[in-house]
Amino acid sequence: MSKTFSPTKRFLIKGVIATCLLSVTRVGFAAKMAQIIAVRVWPSSTYTRITLESNIKLNYKCAQLFNPDRMVIDIDNLNLNPTLKTISTKILNNDPFIKSIQATQLAPSTVRIMVELKQDFYPNTFTLSPIAEFKHRLVVDLYPSKSASADDDPLLTLLEEYQRGDLNKKQAQIKSPTNKKKNSPIIVMLDPGHGGEDPGAIGYKKTREKDIVLQIARRTYNLLKKEANIKVYMTRNEDVFIPLKVRVAKARSLNADLFVSIHADAFTNRSVKGSSVFALSTRGASSSAASYLAQTQNDADQIGGVSRSGDKYLDNTILDLVQKTTLSNGVLLGSAILNRMKKVNNLHKPSIEKAGFAVLKAPDIPSVLVETAFISNITEEQKLKTTSFQNQVSKAIVDGIKDYLKRRKN
Ligand SMILES: [Zn+2]
Repeated sequence: MSKTFSPTKRFLIKGVIATCLLSVTRVGFAAKMAQIIAVRVWPSSTYTRITLESNIKLNYKCAQLFNPDRMVIDIDNLNLNPTLKTISTKILNNDPFIKSIQATQLAPSTVRIMVELKQDFYPNTFTLSPIAEFKHRLVVDLYPSKSASADDDPLLTLLEEYQRGDLNKKQAQIKSPTNKKKNSPIIVMLDPGHGGEDPGAIGYKKTREKDIVLQIARRTYNLLKKEANIKVYMTRNEDVFIPLKVRVAKARSLNADLFVSIHADAFTNRSVKGSSVFALSTRGASSSAASYLAQTQNDADQIGGVSRSGDKYLDNTILDLVQKTTLSNGVLLGSAILNRMKKVNNLHKPSIEKAGFAVLKAPDIPSVLVETAFISNITEEQKLKTTSFQNQVSKAIVDGIKDYLKRRKN
């Protein structure tokens, strides 16, 4: 049973115990029984998330057991209901980390959830308050202990740093563009918006933004891969939730030269349609629609669920240091993409828009956010699902990037 932890792991385990103690202080005072209204499991190659959604905040205790690796979560003031029973059916045979999950009635009003893992892991457990259409949530994130993943993806390391709150320190250094060797390939980071717990906008016919933008990003990736002097990465290539700052941090740690976030958002009015491209504004939004979209995008971390958020790296003092070239190159890149987009769809606005999108705030990477179309508009929702429109949008993004590379200022 005894186990040696690296400082990183020890920190996280302590964090979990602290969370658990806090969560049980109110046991006995809750008059109303909790009820599970949804159970979701999000497996991914980086980490697996289990979400229990309930009508009131759950009181829980958790523990990690070894030989075999297991996670036990005891929830008080709760009875096993048909929704919670389905948890065992949510695990696929090919799940990267989880072998099985069982929910049992341990005692009257206490449910035990036992998660059996396929490998050594560390957990991060936290609760989320209601937001958007979600009620209370208990989130159990399970990370593999062996960070020696087969590829060179820094995502797991960055997520660990993010949980510890020291992503900011490592990311504070601003890269000078002159460090770049001549003739080295241009590195493009594609960022399909949302993912996992965060579905993004949902269309009238229930099309989810997170699925559409992943499809478009994959098509764009395949086109860019064929370009001789371009190297391309994606912030996510599966249905996984990644906090906004980790997306930016991944781009910076892979020395990206350009960052293109891909979305298909909703607006309050279903008649609103057309494509738009956004660059970062440090001084407020260029229109009320831009401000609305930036707000809904920046809510993604609350919807997808983060346990902590150290915001220093995005605060104003760092933003004051933003090089003017980064911002003006962002506008140049956005205008080039918009110019190509107008050939494949009507434009929502004829020129590039600006707003304070958190995902565009890398101080040294020209970054844009492409709203491919409005998923809230019934015609555009239909269009977004088609291979032909997805291919056209991808080609427009690639051609826009190529136009920009010919014109950019260094
Ligand atoms: Zn979006």
